[in-house]
This record gives sequence, C-alpha cells and structure tokens, in this order.
Amino acid sequence: MSTKDTFLLGLDIGASSIKYGFGDCQLGLQFFSKQELAQRSLACLQGTVQDILAHCESLTGSGSIRAIGIGTPGTIDRASMLLAGVNPNLPFWVGHDPRQLVPAHLGIPVASDNDANLMALGEAWLRGSEGLTVGITVGSGIGCGLVNGGRLYHGAHGWAMELGHIISVQQGVPCTCGRNGCLEAYTSVDGIRRRIIGELGDICSPKDGLLGILATRESFPRVGEIIQEGMTILARGIANLIVLLDPDRVVLGGGAMDGNLYPPEQLFAAIRSLLPEINRSATALEGACEGNRAGVLGAIVLADQTFPQESE
Ligand SMILES: [Zn+2]
Repeated sequence: MSTKDTFLLGLDIGASSIKYGFGDCQLGLQFFSKQELAQRSLACLQGTVQDILAHCESLTGSGSIRAIGIGTPGTIDRASMLLAGVNPNLPFWVGHDPRQLVPAHLGIPVASDNDANLMALGEAWLRGSEGLTVGITVGSGIGCGLVNGGRLYHGAHGWAMELGHIISVQQGVPCTCGRNGCLEAYTSVDGIRRRIIGELGDICSPKDGLLGILATRESFPRVGEIIQEGMTILARGIANLIVLLDPDRVVLGGGAMDGNLYPPEQLFAAIRSLLPEINRSATALEGACEGNRAGVLGAIVLADQTFPQESE
C-alpha cells in the first residue's frame, strides 16, 4: 500500500449504475464494484455516492480516501465545471457540477471529467502514458477522448473530440443533440435501435439492450444492414480522426465492443482500408485493456494528477 495507506476513489457514473473502485497511480485499480441506481434522479445519484463512500471507507478505513475522481456522461464546461449541452440518459444532471455529489463537509478534494475522456486516460496510463492516445467508447452513445503525454486534451472550452457528433450523413436521421446525420445516430446502440424501430417497427426494446438488437438480426435481414452501415460510418469517422491527429494508438472499448456489435477485426480492417498508406502502419488499433473498468481507473489517475500526493 502507499504511504499512510491512503487511496484514490474513482467513480464512473452511467445511466443505470455507478461503477467505482479505489487504488493509486503506483498499483492501479485495487478494488472494483458497481452499484445500481434505483432511479434516475439527482437525489438518487447523491444517495448512491454516499453509500459508495461508506462502503469504501468500511474496506479501507475511515479518513483513508485522499481524493476522488468522477467520470460522467456529458460535456463539462471547463470554465464553470458544470455539465453543459444535452444528456439524454440523465437529463436532470445538466447544469450541475459533478463534484457536488461528494458532501463538502467531508473535506475530500474532488475532480471530474467526461467518462470517455477518463476511459482514454485510464487506457493511456496502462500503456505508460506516452505518446498520443485516442480512446473511443461504443455504447448507448459514442464517447471519445484524447490523451497527449498522459494529459487529457479538452480544447479551448471542453468541447473537443466529440466524434459522436461529427456530421456523417447529409440530411440524415435525427440525433439526440438536435441536429441530423451525426455519427452517433448511426453507430451507437441507441442510434441503431432508433433506426431499427423507425424502419421496422417496435421489434426491440431498450430494456433488452444490445442483445435485444442482435436477436432481431436473424429474422430481419435489414437489421444486419443497419449494423453494417453503422460499422462503415464508424470506420470512416475513426479513419478521418487518424488522418487529422496522427495518434500513436486508437483504443476501442465500451459495452457494444464487449458485446461484439462490431467484431474488432472487421472494424479495424474497415478503418485500415480507408487510411492513407503512411497512416496504416503508424497508428495501432487496439481493444481496451480494462474493458468497462477503464473509466474508474481513469478517474483515479485524474484524481492523482489534480491532487498530487505531497512528498514527505
Ligand atoms: Zn449529434
């Protein structure tokens, strides 16, 4: 254990649960668990975080949490640190500062960032934090983050790397952001489900998740085509990103990659086929090492970077 046995706590807020764990930047993630959200409300989010704090302190000792990192869906305005824009799964959350989930009287410093940014930060840390790493999560939405030399890139205001909302189809289907034709509307699990229901009727339900979509593929060939179109549009977006950024690596993770919506070798081959020769071998395409734990690990790395331990 680190000196004085203090820990960093990482929280990764999702639409239906909070993943959490503790560790440090020497040993990485030392404990990981998940707490379901009983309902989607601010009060429930706050209560669940307090339960998690109590659980972790029961394992590590009272006063042992040195700092906390919080990952959340949505875009954080870097000037105010408030959640901005639209947050389709957690609409009540917009306009709040994620750090307020930790009661101020505890005196624990808290840092927060977008969940996909923290996935990228965690996966970059696992690879030694060197070079330029793009992390992409494919799930109910599309998340994307960029880490340069171990540090996250946010752009001027916090809006950088929104791969899910680059316009990919002219006059395309509506996106949750209010525009049409975004990459996410064609490639994310929720986007694919909306397309299926829009074209074929109510044949899959959100509560059945990705498996519900994949199950309809046998009976409805059009579902397979919609998924294939999603993979083509995602591959094009990632290939364009590689041409723009020339990263060392692109790491793909998230629930839909774990669930094989896009078989990695097919997706990687599709990306490579769209790349100029010089980029093809220069940028590595990799699966996430930590799977759905990478966001929690990234939250721990963020807490350590923001509140470095004083040397003794
Ligand atoms: Zn959009």
